[in-house]
Amino acid sequence: MRVSRFPLNTVKETPTDAEIVSHQLMLRAGLIRRIAAGIYTWMPLGLRVLRKVEAVVREEMNRIGCLELLMPAVQPAELWQESTRWDAYGPELLRLKDRHERDFVFGPTHEEVVTDLVRREIKSYRQLPLAYYQIQTKFRDEVRPRFGVMRAREFIMKDAYSFHADQPCLQKTYDDMYRAYSAIFTRLGLDFRAVLADTGSIGGAHSHEFHVLADSGEDDIAFSTVSDYAANVELAEAVTPATRPAATAALAKRATPGVHTMDDLARFLGVGLEQTLKTLLVQGSNGGLVALCLRGDHTLNEIKAEKHPLIAQPLTFASPQAIRALVGCEAGSIGPLGLACPVLIDRAAAVLADFACGANADGFHFTGVNWGRDLAEAAVTDLRKVVAGDPSPDGHGSLRIARGIEVGHIFQLGTKYSAAMNATVLDEAGRTQVMTMGCYGIGVSRIVAAAIEQNHDERGIAWPQAMAPFQVALLPINAGKSPEVREAAEALYAELQAAGIEVLLDDRDARPGVMFADMELVGIPHRIVIGSKGLAAGELEYKGRRDAESRPVRRDGLLDFLR
Ligand code: ATP
Ligand code: MG
Ligand code: MG
Ligand code: MG
Repeated sequence: MRVSRFPLNTVKETPTDAEIVSHQLMLRAGLIRRIAAGIYTWMPLGLRVLRKVEAVVREEMNRIGCLELLMPAVQPAELWQESTRWDAYGPELLRLKDRHERDFVFGPTHEEVVTDLVRREIKSYRQLPLAYYQIQTKFRDEVRPRFGVMRAREFIMKDAYSFHADQPCLQKTYDDMYRAYSAIFTRLGLDFRAVLADTGSIGGAHSHEFHVLADSGEDDIAFSTVSDYAANVELAEAVTPATRPAATAALAKRATPGVHTMDDLARFLGVGLEQTLKTLLVQGSNGGLVALCLRGDHTLNEIKAEKHPLIAQPLTFASPQAIRALVGCEAGSIGPLGLACPVLIDRAAAVLADFACGANADGFHFTGVNWGRDLAEAAVTDLRKVVAGDPSPDGHGSLRIARGIEVGHIFQLGTKYSAAMNATVLDEAGRTQVMTMGCYGIGVSRIVAAAIEQNHDERGIAWPQAMAPFQVALLPINAGKSPEVREAAEALYAELQAAGIEVLLDDRDARPGVMFADMELVGIPHRIVIGSKGLAAGELEYKGRRDAESRPVRRDGLLDFLR
């Protein structure tokens, strides 16, 4: 591409209405232009970056057998009424009316549309599992759109949805997605963490967020300095470092992955609750967290006396919602909304010790709660909020707390939408069975901003290789006056293009300082300067975007050098 045909819309001054560096640089480098609050045009240069991100996302989705489709952005209200989100979603949902006064929404997400599609298309368990994805414009009427495309109202998301006959099958796809997400963010050159997450308004039992580490991030995340343990701080607070990390570490080793039935748990507890405890044990990536969920407003003594048949809801970890539901209840008691205290079971010792259990105040929790074998001897020894330096809940290392930008989010939805919308298949025995679902989002446009937060200096953007709009900038010096320089630049331009390298030739005949400043601002990884003096000696001048100094390279060996 030539700058004469591909104008760089760069701006020298820092825009006053842009608070964070990525927003400032995206405007200054001419990647985006604002049209209304939280609504932006992607300029040709910015679009090249966005397409790079999309390409990596597509490749990794295709690799795990996820099928691309494209669903409508405008969705009929009936589907949202069926899922009950028409009322539940609130003002972030942009509602529209057509000329017949029929209600529609501009999709902020697509669970309803995809569930409707699949319930019509898929009839038998033999057609499962199935996973679809799309890369598409979403609209969320954010209460505070800001930071440019980071928190926009109109933005581009990759959203994927999977359908299964059972939970183990969902778990397998979820694990594939987890790995695909890790591959995507690694390929894009981002410093990221996958963290245990709250399930928010989408609901469901099990969820991870992917965060790009950056001080401008809007979330706090906690992660171990030595192990893989990482959680959104909201969640880490609920999980709390146990007071006996060694026991928890032993637990992490011995816990069996997968979903355990209430019978397994009852047998493990060995306290005669077989008939009364309906509990699901869900294995988390920290290896030892167990949610023990009891429904009903019963005391522990009543449970012990088997007075009440209790039905559990599967609850992975102590989600902030669960914690909120427990606000105001006694340690070790059953919460007002029917959720018992989430517990951390010291499985290695086969004694119920060192629980992290329900909070009595938002963001707080108890640690070191010992209930003893008969579940009756509750004693609280500690009450605190998670802070940096706390031991990691998995017993390995201590916690670091950092700011993160949420760039991806994966959920196990279970049957939330399929049950509400009656999406069923016939099972092996010909019985009707509700499908199990997962959903998986990536903020494609947000990634561009997040990458800049991590990759910039005082001169501008320094794109990770995989996201750069062009790989090489060719800058001829004084080309107007020097036919040799002009010819050498043209020859080099043709040669690099023929080699499949994305090259931007600055043919404006601008002053060197102007060209250098523009190319550094827009962040092109490799800069090659062609000057008459160097040419006479068979040399060009090379500078990597992150290099302090330029250095000479042989004209003949340039292609090899760039490879
Ligand atoms: P956030 O917590 O930042 O509001 P979310 O949890 O509401 O995000 P999800 O419903 O999980 O978002 O959507 C999937 C992905 O879409 C997010 O991980 C994020 O990367 C991206 N995303 C969500 N909202 C926005 C937005 N307003 N602007 C840009 N990207 C967004
Ligand atoms: Mg949101
Ligand atoms: Mg979020
Ligand atoms: Mg999210």
